[in-house]
Amino acid sequence: MLNQNMLALGKKRSTIREIFEFGNQRAKVIGRENVFDFSIGNPNVPAPDSVQEAICDIVTNQNPAAVHGYTSAQGREDSRNAIAASLNARFGTDYAAKNLYLTVGAAASLSICLKALTASPEDEFIIFAPHFPEYQVFIEQGAGAKCVIVPAQIEDFQINFEAFERKLNPHTKGVLINSPNNPSGVVYSEATIDRLTALLNKKAAEYGHPIYLISDEPYREIIYGTREIPFIAPKYKNTLVCYSYSKSLSLPGERIGYVLVPNTVESFDDVYAAVCGAGRVLGYVCAPALFQQVIARCAADTADLSIYAENRKLLLEGLAAFGYKCIEPEGAFYLFPQTLEADDYAFCERAKKYDLLLVPGTDFGAPGHMRISYCVQTETVRRALPLFEKLAKEYAGK
Ligand code: PLP
Repeated sequence: MLNQNMLALGKKRSTIREIFEFGNQRAKVIGRENVFDFSIGNPNVPAPDSVQEAICDIVTNQNPAAVHGYTSAQGREDSRNAIAASLNARFGTDYAAKNLYLTVGAAASLSICLKALTASPEDEFIIFAPHFPEYQVFIEQGAGAKCVIVPAQIEDFQINFEAFERKLNPHTKGVLINSPNNPSGVVYSEATIDRLTALLNKKAAEYGHPIYLISDEPYREIIYGTREIPFIAPKYKNTLVCYSYSKSLSLPGERIGYVLVPNTVESFDDVYAAVCGAGRVLGYVCAPALFQQVIARCAADTADLSIYAENRKLLLEGLAAFGYKCIEPEGAFYLFPQTLEADDYAFCERAKKYDLLLVPGTDFGAPGHMRISYCVQTETVRRALPLFEKLAKEYAGK
């Protein structure tokens, strides 16, 4: 007999993947340019030139055995030093190589942290709707812990503190946040972060054990406007940061990211060792060697993110004009408007008639919404707007 949970997971694609595959099939019939695929968060801007130059230089001028060989499990020291230096320059911190563990992207960073922290099946991790759907899989199936979901605060997608406080209990091992957020694009305000950290400090003292804050930050660099987004690690001592270069450097298929374990984390040596142990158990061995070296050179760079700002503006203005209600988010490349009927699946199904591919909010724990992933060509957005309008007209007067 097989592991039935794995079998079930393997047989059922995520809704996002289903829609993405539907788009691929439609593209064969009507042409790629006629499919308005807003389903998946695959960046469409190229990696910056510095990445291409680094790859060419490394593979041309270095000994192939050294380029492609295993590295130490936690990653090359020069790469970890470069990441620490880039964080220190931006955030005034004093991280060093020993605070970093390189991973195969944020999904691995999360799986590793959750596995490292879970001591018993009774341990609970709290997440906030709307949330990245894989969190539940990583917590329940990967780490074997309990996933506790706090319902969304629909008005602004900040934290619903009353509901959150009710979920905290002595089994709470950690709290997982994601800002800028997938799917809402919302950035947690300073007030939210302050209230969150104060509450966690209070409850940790009451329960007599640490409550870890896992901060999932793959969209940290993708922000609009002038406000600096709060960097949470220095504000709460038991923070573990999960990062990935998938979005900031447009390298999702190359699988490179890290876990940051600051010195302030209680029993730092043990927590870092448990992170290494979890990476070992999950079979990661080491992060991709070539891209570790690329990151050593490009840790402080980003892809040209300006196209996302343009797409965001066009969509926000267009959707508002057609009567869609949407919070104006400050980050990531997602919008999360309300659907025009309560059944978000029915709405997204109806949108398919126009080859508009949208993801129902229910999959992110917030029914009655749709996620629009706008990391697409601006031309696609322009041509999709009249279709959003036609769709809205179907509901007019209903
Ligand atoms: N966390 C969030 C919020 C995401 O949106 C994603 C990917 O879209 C991930 C984690 C996984 O990132 P990676 O591709 O680096 O594993």
